[in-house]
Amino acid sequence: MRALYLFKRDLRLEDNRALAYASERHREILPLFVFDPEIIESLKAEGERLYYVVRAVERLSKRIKLYCAYGKTHEVLRDVFRVYKPSHLYTAVSYSWDGVERNKSIKKVCEEFGVEYVEVFENFLVDPREVPQRKVYTPFYKEWIKRVDLGEGKVKEFQVPELSLPQIEQIKPMLKLSDYRHFDPDQCEKRLESFSFESYEDTRNYPAMDGTSKLSPCIRFGILSLRKIFKKAQGKSEQFIKELAWREFWYHIALNFPETKNVEFQEKRRNIAWENREEYIEAFLEGKTGYPIVDAGIRQLKTEKWLHNRVRMILASFLTKVLLVDWRIGEEFFKEHLLDYDQVVNVGNWQWSASVGADPKPFRLFNPILQAQRYDPECKYIKKYLPGLAQVPCHMLHNPISHALPYHKLVVNYYERVNLSKRAYGLTQNQIGDDF
Ligand SMILES: Cc1cc2nc3c(=O)[nH]c(=O)nc-3n(C[C@H](O)[C@H](O)[C@H](O)COP(=O)(O)OP(=O)(O)OC[C@H]3O[C@@H](n4cnc5c(N)ncnc54)[C@H](O)[C@@H]3O)c2cc1C
Repeated sequence: MRALYLFKRDLRLEDNRALAYASERHREILPLFVFDPEIIESLKAEGERLYYVVRAVERLSKRIKLYCAYGKTHEVLRDVFRVYKPSHLYTAVSYSWDGVERNKSIKKVCEEFGVEYVEVFENFLVDPREVPQRKVYTPFYKEWIKRVDLGEGKVKEFQVPELSLPQIEQIKPMLKLSDYRHFDPDQCEKRLESFSFESYEDTRNYPAMDGTSKLSPCIRFGILSLRKIFKKAQGKSEQFIKELAWREFWYHIALNFPETKNVEFQEKRRNIAWENREEYIEAFLEGKTGYPIVDAGIRQLKTEKWLHNRVRMILASFLTKVLLVDWRIGEEFFKEHLLDYDQVVNVGNWQWSASVGADPKPFRLFNPILQAQRYDPECKYIKKYLPGLAQVPCHMLHNPISHALPYHKLVVNYYERVNLSKRAYGLTQNQIGDDF
């Protein structure tokens, strides 16, 4: 019996439970990856980010004969089923809102053709459905950590049938790609080996340092197994493991509160009067707010398609609480640019940063001046991404309100805006101070 294995965001052979499960049951497997124009378009992924996916597929193709297709997934599957008649289709489970819908439509095509559809748990350390429902991260973590199962998904050797289906070389000319050097799937293993988990706690908040793992694209596309990453961090950094759990917390929230894809987790925050002023939105999206730490972040995001977590938080707080712009606009902006974009994680974090999400703290405020002073004390990060400001003394760059910079005009005065913002959130002026 021939099985079809549909790769999605698990682009590896090593420790892949879904593929392992298929390989235990079938000697012949047709491995397939589909470049679906609907997904590419919805993520605006053409160019650099698609290039990364192609590199990941090429990497996998060196190990097995991986068939590829360009087209709507359900149409591609119909064509493949008609001609090559697999008995089963295996794929990894999906818990993202769009992923669930996609898997449903794959299952429907399978039913049409009498192909048995098998969805296997993968891409998480703990099945987010198995953790008892929690609305707050810390109690979730306590339940989550008890359930981590590091059992490896060993893939057995299987035969790939010789078929006249295209491979990545034939598909590549159909894709709009641009060269991209900042991240490369070939570097995931090396990065995992060389990253200093022991130092993570001390370095992770400083965007000018190479102090976080930068494994998010490797995780997003399943180039590395989460179990392997977990084992590397185990005993070296509990903080790092907690970050892996944050990713799964957002899936837990999405599963238990599916409405949060579009609406705020906190009911009381569903009617914030966002100003959404065009000129503020434009200044933010173009990195022309006049706040160097914010504009440097936008520059990093646009040029590298990745952004340091501390700066993601500063940006998200600035857009929502200083400019009073709807978090959905920021979510959409990150979706267009982040290589590691993950719908569930991005929505969860944007809601958290906007103080409308799963967070017991009533209001978080990241003052861009204090944040810059504290986390970029020598302005290395600012000057790297805004080289035009290289000659300006650092204390001036930290505080663009007190110092006129040879640079964009301030879009707003932070201190004037936060009071407005607190009112929009239903808080009194002195209720909440700055956060770190
Ligand atoms: C507004 C906002 C939007 C975000 N959008 C995304 C997104 O679309 N995709 C994404 O993967 N991460 C997102 N994050 C989380 C986090 O910023 C990135 O995962 C992290 O910066 C990736 O860099 P790293 O691999 O060096 O992280 P490390 O600090 O090395 O952490 C290791 C891994 O833990 C996970 N992780 C770390 N922090 C978080 C977090 N806050 N939430 C969930 N998982 C986390 C990631 O998988 C990360 O690769 C967002 C954060 C914010 C504040």
